[in-house]
Order: sequence, then C-alpha cells, then structure tokens
Amino acid sequence: MIQNSQNLFERAQQVIPGGVNSPVRAFRAVGGNPVFMTSAKGPYLYDEDNNQYLDFINSWGPMILGHACDHVEKAVHDALGKSFSFGAPTRREVEMAELIISMVPSVEKVRMVNSGTEATMSAVRVARGYTGKDKIIKFEGCYHGHGDSFLISAGSGAITLGVPDSPGVTKGVAQDTITVPYNNLEAVKAAVEANHGEIAAIILEPVVGNMGLVPPVNGFLQGLRDLCDKEGIILIFDEVMTGFRLAKGGAQELFNVMPDLTTMGKIIGGGLPVGAYGGRREIMDYVAPAGPVYQAGTLSGNPIAMAAGYAMLTYLNEHPEVYAYLDNITGKMVAGMRDNLAQLNLDYTINQVGSMFSIFFTSNPVTDFTSAKQSDLALFGQYFNSMLRQGIYLAPSQFETLFVSVALTDELADQYIAANRKALQEIHQ
Ligand code: PLP
Repeated sequence: MIQNSQNLFERAQQVIPGGVNSPVRAFRAVGGNPVFMTSAKGPYLYDEDNNQYLDFINSWGPMILGHACDHVEKAVHDALGKSFSFGAPTRREVEMAELIISMVPSVEKVRMVNSGTEATMSAVRVARGYTGKDKIIKFEGCYHGHGDSFLISAGSGAITLGVPDSPGVTKGVAQDTITVPYNNLEAVKAAVEANHGEIAAIILEPVVGNMGLVPPVNGFLQGLRDLCDKEGIILIFDEVMTGFRLAKGGAQELFNVMPDLTTMGKIIGGGLPVGAYGGRREIMDYVAPAGPVYQAGTLSGNPIAMAAGYAMLTYLNEHPEVYAYLDNITGKMVAGMRDNLAQLNLDYTINQVGSMFSIFFTSNPVTDFTSAKQSDLALFGQYFNSMLRQGIYLAPSQFETLFVSVALTDELADQYIAANRKALQEIHQ
C-alpha cells in the first residue's frame, strides 16, 4: 500500500516541478512514483503509509552512522537552544575547521559553504583566480553539483534524465569546460596539450559515485597529480561523496594521492545542508577577505549545521573502526551478490570501494561512462522495483552508487542478499 504517497505525489506535481525538489527522487528512470517519507531511524526509513524500508541511499551519503544517530541528534538539540543563526563568527567554526584539517591530509585551510554544489563552484573559481586561466577539465559521467560549468557530460540525475548537457548553460561557459573519459590518462594529456597554458584545473571524483560506482584504475590518480605538477594545473578532488566515507581522510587518504583543493559535502553536515572546500594554504589565501576571489554565504557556518557536522566528524575521527566495519559488511553483501549471480548463471558487474557499491546490468567491466551506459536500464528498473517491493530502498537509477551505514547489521546484510537473489530470479523468469 502506497496510497498516501500517491496522493501526495499528485498534489506535489501541481506545485513543485516534477513533484520533487531534486530530480532523481522522481523514480522516472525506474517507473512508478516516489515514496514519501515521514521518519527514519538507524537502518530504516518509514513512509506515509507506514511501510518500513531498509535504506541503501542514506540521504545520498550523509547518514554513514545510520539515521537519527544519538550523538548528532543530541548536538543539534543542544545547539537549538542558543541561536538558529548568528551571521557572525563562532568558536564552533574554528573547531570545525581545525577538525577537518586534522582529518583530511591535503587540507591546510578550509571555507564552509552550504552544499556540495557551492563547494565545487567556489573551488573552481579559486583555481581560476589563482592561475589566471579559464578552462577546466572534467570527466564524462562525473557529477559535481549543478553549477553551470559542470553540467557538461554530467553524471547522476543529469544522465538518468538524459540531459547531461543542460539547456540554460551558455556557450561561453560550455566552451571553458573540456570533458574527457574517466580513467583515460592519455585523453587527459591530449586535452592539456590541445589547450596548452589555458587549463586552470582538473576536477574529478577520485572514486566516481555518479555513474554508478567506478573506481580509478591503478596509477590514474597519481598520473593526474604528476601531470598537474608538470603543467601548473590545480588538481581538485571532489570528495563530496567519498570524503569521510572511504576513510576518515577520504579517497586521498585511501589512495595516497594529494590534490591541491578538495571539495566536501554530505557527511560533513551530518544530514544538515553543509559543504566545504579547502586545500593548500597559498591557494585558499586567494579567497576573500584574505584574497581577491569573492565567495560568501549568509548561512555559511550556521550554528545548527556546524553542531551536527562537528558531532558527526568527531565520532568518525574517534572511531576509526567504523571504516573496517563498513568495508567488511559491504564486502559481505558484494560476495553474497556474486554467489547469487553464479548460482543463477548470470554475469553482471559489481563495483565496490569501501562502503560504496553498484551492480551494473552488463557483463562488461565498468570503468568509465561509455561502459556504464552499456547496462540494461530496463532490467535495472525491474530489479529496483522488485527490491522496493521487498522493502529494500535502492537509488532509483543505474547511474548512482549505494551507500552503507554502520546501522546495517550482519542479519540485515543477509536479508539484503536474500532479497537480491529473489529480485534476480524474478527479473529472469
Ligand atoms: N559533487 C559530488 C561528487 C556529488 O555527488 C554531489 C551530489 O550528489 C555534489 C557535488 C553536489 O552536492 P549537493 O547536492 O550538496 O549540491
């Protein structure tokens, strides 16, 4: 029964474009209508019709400790009594910056913003201001939020809805964004050569979550680092998804490759709207009021958001065992899925890095946007709906990663594996 959700979706469509406040929530790629949620606790979501779902979206990443975890909740309660917003500096912002710098190896100074989109837009502006160059290189299928410069061959909802190059982005902006295939160092070198002396920055997801989960091939990240050093290009790791998730210092810690600038979001706000960008001191000192590159925000460093984010990051910093747990439990699910595939004589690709994973409905390895697009999307839609009927809430698109939280127990992982088997059987009947 999802009658209340259906009714709400009909009302929503009258007053909100497409009935949702972010496109992928609309279930367009998988058929059916979105489910409207009322509450969440630990590994579960609850909808308007009192259905319970085992959640693998986790708010698209932030809920690494599960929903409504006690210490983040307590920190928010404590902060609520003091002020909703000061519009003035606070002690907590200093502590937050110090904590981020202590956790993320390449970050020496950091500026708080309100979303991942703001973080990437600002980081690119600083890279342009610092280098005095205009062009950026991004990778096909990577998503860096909805800033104009990034809606060229963009991933996530932009691929899902078939608008990787969004109308409304001017030709001038589009010309300054050069796109190349992910994991293809030679293509990057050729693009740099063809635009010699004009590239301000190379931006990428060091592990891609936005075309489904795609890891970097061996040497790719280091190759980019070396190229940027040689050519005086700023290397930006967009760690909005991977930051504080793949390790407490993000993908840069996991792969031991240091970018010049890092963008952060999702986990950094503990579920509240927070983003940040940071990096080498000399570059960050270009940001106003220290330097000439303007970037600002009425609610940046908001006390309630900082309280949630600080509680979340403190917990992760003090409990590194979280990462081993997440690696193991996700590895267990992936192993279970591979067993299911083998037993059913099916051959689909599963990619995993730490607590992020995707099943692609293609037997080819998925290493970039072209190979991700070989997935059978109709089959994915059927799989998604079968899992939903079994109470498992997956991202409603082939081109998204799943996120695991520490609230997922061994028994729940078994439940997921059993549901996966049943769904695979159903779609191949
Ligand atoms: N960068 C990456 C890698 C993302 O995955 C996202 C969102 O999913 C963003 C940037 C944009 O973040 P936000 O949605 O908070 O604006």
